[in-house]
Amino acid sequence: MKKQIAVIGLEMHCELKSNSKVFSSAKNAYSEIPNSNIAPLDMAFPGTLPVVNKKCVLNALKVSLSLNCSQPDYLMFDRKNYYYPDLPKGYQITQMTKPIGINGCIEIEVNDKLIPVYIHDVHLEEDSASLDHFFDTTNIDYNRSGVPLLELVTEPCLHSKEEAQAFLEHIIRIYRYLDVSDADTKKGQIRCDVNVSIMDEDSRELGTKVEVKNVNSLSGVAKTIDYEIRRQTTLKEEGRYDEIKQETRRWDEESETTIHMRNKVDEVDYKYFIEPNIPRYPLKEEWIEEIKKSIPRLHLERKKDYIKNIGLSNYDAEILVKDKSVSDYFEECLKLDIDAKTSANWIITQILGYLNKYNLSITDFYFTPKRLKDLISELEKNTISSKQAKEIFKEVIEQEKEVKDFIKKNTQLSNEDELNNIIEEILANNVEQIEEYKKGRTNLFDYFVGQVMKNTKGKANPVLTKKILNEKLKG
Ligand code: ADP
Ligand code: MG
Repeated sequence: MKKQIAVIGLEMHCELKSNSKVFSSAKNAYSEIPNSNIAPLDMAFPGTLPVVNKKCVLNALKVSLSLNCSQPDYLMFDRKNYYYPDLPKGYQITQMTKPIGINGCIEIEVNDKLIPVYIHDVHLEEDSASLDHFFDTTNIDYNRSGVPLLELVTEPCLHSKEEAQAFLEHIIRIYRYLDVSDADTKKGQIRCDVNVSIMDEDSRELGTKVEVKNVNSLSGVAKTIDYEIRRQTTLKEEGRYDEIKQETRRWDEESETTIHMRNKVDEVDYKYFIEPNIPRYPLKEEWIEEIKKSIPRLHLERKKDYIKNIGLSNYDAEILVKDKSVSDYFEECLKLDIDAKTSANWIITQILGYLNKYNLSITDFYFTPKRLKDLISELEKNTISSKQAKEIFKEVIEQEKEVKDFIKKNTQLSNEDELNNIIEEILANNVEQIEEYKKGRTNLFDYFVGQVMKNTKGKANPVLTKKILNEKLKG
């Protein structure tokens, strides 16, 4: 058998952030209490009409623009008709004719290489209610009914689980940078349909695809792809390629396999038609331009900038752009003219270390970039040692004070005469050690430095201390 290539296309659904739902005034928020965030429309009461939430359109447009999609001239919706108990209206309002974005393309990073990913479309729709199954009953919870969903459909252009996973992580980060969603898989905010096929290496035609529905974790997506590639390759190897049918399967977490749900021919015809209760709404160029301007620089652009123009390592740049608020903090430091590498080091080691330890967020962190600047300039002036700087950093936060409040007390001992006296006294008390040192035990040098530090409670300027010690021990 010829070498096989896997082809993967993803359909990624993500719940968007907003105050109210996409077509009703009910709160868009998760709640443990079933049916607590609902409006009559979410339960399809007769006479209720949808009203489009502008914030949801705005968020969807932000994504559309960030994925370099084209936007339609006007906003419109379609009805996708099917019956299921979690869909009381008997149809889902979605976008088929005029998605909010089409023909996009982005660059993603996979194992330190950049690859393009083509976006077929992104469209705005509503989520369904959810069903809670118990032993002999099923309850319907309408809290999720009408929650804004953004569906992103890629072209079949991914070729491995690594690429698929990197793509999803990239998109999740974009959504967080844009602040359109928390994109939290743990909260069930992301669900993916994973389409997989295989083909001969030199084939020009795509193979028959299998769709695996509703995979809700990144590891689930990776395992699904792995499993499907193996299953399909084995069938092909055994000469049973015709058994790979266009079908819908589901990922079974327990057995770690995909299970047949239905064949393509059994699929319902959704009888799409234009949603008549929502008038078309023009998407004016001025509004689109305004939104474009509000989009922050995204993580990959920032990362490239940090590496190329600032000289950070790939590793450090990656840590800084992981979270937009950390990257914003770093950029604030640059604006304050703090040396880029020094601020990167401080953020990565001290600041993130401290925030992680106490489970704090950098957004409202007491130790602002301005305070970091104060601290670093004291370090540069040599008034404090780096050990002292780390201590002052903690004191400032814990006592909610300013860096300068600790400088007087901590000022480094850099007066040469004063240091000279202290060192002479120490050497006078360590005659034996000096002899040993002169006989060749040169590592005793650190012992002398240690004695000076002990005597001065760590305040002695280390450079000066070493210089004086060197001179005295030479003679
Ligand atoms: P359908 O009509 O079954 O919904 P679409 O052409 O709309 O199929 O594609 C749905 C998803 O399946 C898209 O993400 C697309 O990239 C992916 N896809 C299409 N053909 C293939 C294929 N041969 N192999 C893998 N994925 C595919
Ligand atoms: Mg489809």
